[in-house]
Amino acid sequence: MGIADRYAVIGNPIEHSKSPVIHQAFAKQLQQEIEYLRVLAPLDGFVSSVNTLRAVGFKGVNVTVPFKFEAFQMANQLTERARAAGAVNTLMFDGNSISGDNTDGAGLVQDIQHNLGVPIKQKRVLLLGAGGAAEGVLLPILAEQPAQLVIANRSLEKALNMQRKIESEKFGQHTLTSTSTFDSLQGQSFDIVINATSTGLTDTQLPLPGDIFAKDALAYEMLYGRETPFMAFARSHGAGRIADGLGMLIEQAAESFYLWRKVRPQTAPVIEQFQS
Ligand code: NDP
Repeated sequence: MGIADRYAVIGNPIEHSKSPVIHQAFAKQLQQEIEYLRVLAPLDGFVSSVNTLRAVGFKGVNVTVPFKFEAFQMANQLTERARAAGAVNTLMFDGNSISGDNTDGAGLVQDIQHNLGVPIKQKRVLLLGAGGAAEGVLLPILAEQPAQLVIANRSLEKALNMQRKIESEKFGQHTLTSTSTFDSLQGQSFDIVINATSTGLTDTQLPLPGDIFAKDALAYEMLYGRETPFMAFARSHGAGRIADGLGMLIEQAAESFYLWRKVRPQTAPVIEQFQS
């Protein structure tokens, strides 16, 4: 029997990463022989760490904070969704070829539509935040044809830059996007509100108007593993449904696994395993 194909998640810090457990669960389910490691790269040593893994025969890596932009630079082939995100979370190696993709948006869309059963088409969607996570999900959400997509961010300029980029010819000139500060959301309500800010990490409450959630709205927090102020706010201001980002995490991993192995894992049992 040959050696198993090897993959890794690379970041700094990395010890908290759930990716090895998720990918091993997928591999077991599909009877795929893989090895999947955590790799801590020095903050100034991402490229050399990846090249070392390539040199010893690794087939691909997942990339996490803070290296998604460097991974984007390093790839010599990029998917459209990676170009739109300006960031890469999945690299595939084949000889001299380094292909980069971004599966975060596909993961979010799959979690919202398939796992939570909420179609995005014709819905009014509010995306809170204009950092890396928001950029990664913008094009995949727009591809589902929401009725409206508003990006609200503390620094309006960053939201405007995202809007300009996605509306450029390169990405099919989507025109449903508009941008806003949190204050100017007054008087508007949305069917799906996605928190892609990092405020959950610092227990900070966003200054959102109390009537932001339409009837039966979904409030989606990208952070997972704890109740955040956004989730508490949604609970007390009429959101019909509240979800955290665990499903997105597992779905983006499934999409990476599919890119590497060409077989698609079932995510429901793995989500259940993490919830219990
Ligand atoms: P970034 O640092 O790139 O962006 C942070 C965003 O949060 C910016 O829009 C920033 O606004 C905003 N922000 C930060 N502090 C405040 C504040 N006090 N008030 C208002 N806005 C604030 O982070 P990421 O985009 O990488 O990550 C965002 C979140 O998404 C994190 O919680 C992360 O854990 C989660 N995530 C989850 C994933 C999953 O699979 N479930 C995948 C990726 C990310 P400004 O531009 O004004 O600074």
